[in-house]
Amino acid sequence: MAEFTMELNDEQREVRDWLHGFAADVIRPAAAEWDEREETPWPVIQEAAKVGIYSLDFYAQQYFDPTGLGIPMAMEELFWGDAGIALSIVGTGLAAVGVLANGTEEQIGTWIPQMYGDQNDVKVAAFCSSEPDAGSDVASMRTRAVYDEAKDEWVINGTKTWATNGGIANVHVVVAVVDPELGSKGHASFIVPPGTPGLTQGQKFKKHGIRASHTAEVVLENVRVPGSCLLGGKEKLDERLARAREKAKASGGERVKNAAMATFEASRPAVGAMAVGTARAAYEVALEYATTREQFGRPIIDNQGVAFQLADMRTQIDAARLLVWRASWMAVNGKPFTAAEGSMSKLFASETAKKVTAQAIQILGGNGYTREYPVERMHRDSAIYTIFEGTSEIQRLVIARTLAGMPIR
Ligand SMILES: Cc1cc2nc3c(=O)[nH]c(=O)nc-3n(C[C@H](O)[C@H](O)[C@H](O)COP(=O)(O)OP(=O)(O)OC[C@H]3O[C@@H](n4cnc5c(N)ncnc54)[C@H](O)[C@@H]3O)c2cc1C
Repeated sequence: MAEFTMELNDEQREVRDWLHGFAADVIRPAAAEWDEREETPWPVIQEAAKVGIYSLDFYAQQYFDPTGLGIPMAMEELFWGDAGIALSIVGTGLAAVGVLANGTEEQIGTWIPQMYGDQNDVKVAAFCSSEPDAGSDVASMRTRAVYDEAKDEWVINGTKTWATNGGIANVHVVVAVVDPELGSKGHASFIVPPGTPGLTQGQKFKKHGIRASHTAEVVLENVRVPGSCLLGGKEKLDERLARAREKAKASGGERVKNAAMATFEASRPAVGAMAVGTARAAYEVALEYATTREQFGRPIIDNQGVAFQLADMRTQIDAARLLVWRASWMAVNGKPFTAAEGSMSKLFASETAKKVTAQAIQILGGNGYTREYPVERMHRDSAIYTIFEGTSEIQRLVIARTLAGMPIR
């Protein structure tokens, strides 16, 4: 087990500084333009690919960092640059993790490179779980995958929504129901390879924030994928379903609900780290402004009303980062999340980002309310953190039920 330390090691510091440089020199200057265009910032993704930030190697290196701090550190720096662009850069990694975590070696080797493309022809990937009637309530998912044994193919039908990179992705990872009796235990994940007939993009959403990140519906009509596209393979799925059926029988046939949510504990700190990045960015702009803007013959930070806000902002950002680092360390060291510490970190960091970015607008006064300054964009962007990867209410529900020893549903 890696020793826990509050200090990044030399290698981590080097990576952090390199990422910060990219965020400051490439991402931040492009942020306002891509926010207005509401389009995927392909040239920035390509730039990230050229320097090695947009690659499986980089993502895997951070993901497998034994201290657990690689991913939160990377997320914080990239999202410090700009949340919409950063999500366009890391969105593929989030889909790739689904394959890394559940796929066979062959699936990892075949599909992950196709998710990224190459430096001259970058591609993106999408992870499609949410549906119009199954957001927080994952167990209500309706997209169905049926096995056609004669052809060794799976046939997928359904509509996914809110998919980051949905429809523009080269590779889609789609979660579907394979056994409706088992609730979320009866779900499985499938690769939908590039150009598969029947997969189309539905509406592209016009959003409040993270507008440089593409979000859309994905419609699946009789989408046929080879048996080899079932993540983990058929044998493993059959074993898992048999175990779940046994458990359901033992619990009197009660539908198994939402147990899969527990797996989110390990991924939620990464979203917390994104929120820390946005909050820190807004705080830095506000601090700089408060020390240089003068009213009544003195910098506005000379007023306790402004200074104390900045003190609270910084305190909450640091507290959020510590919760995120703790949960990330726990995840990588296989510690049980007995108090839902992953959800805790995401809850606190995302609420902090919303609060801190609103305070930043206030400190900048009229300027804060305009698009001449970045804090209004950061505030719009921060609203996503309390929604995706489980809303704040769902985080509270998970924490409370975990503390009470109750099943999560
Ligand atoms: C920009 C964006 C990108 C996204 N990217 C992806 C992606 O790549 N892949 C993907 O699969 N999904 C993605 N999502 C979906 C996201 O995870 C869902 O929006 C989220 O889980 C909430 O689901 P919902 O929108 O259906 O809200 P609902 O579940 O309908 O919730 C509505 C409100 O009710 C509250 N609520 C619901 N149930 C309870 C309860 N039991 N107790 C208390 N309050 C409750 C919620 O907290 C919320 O305030 C994305 C969403 C957005 C907006």
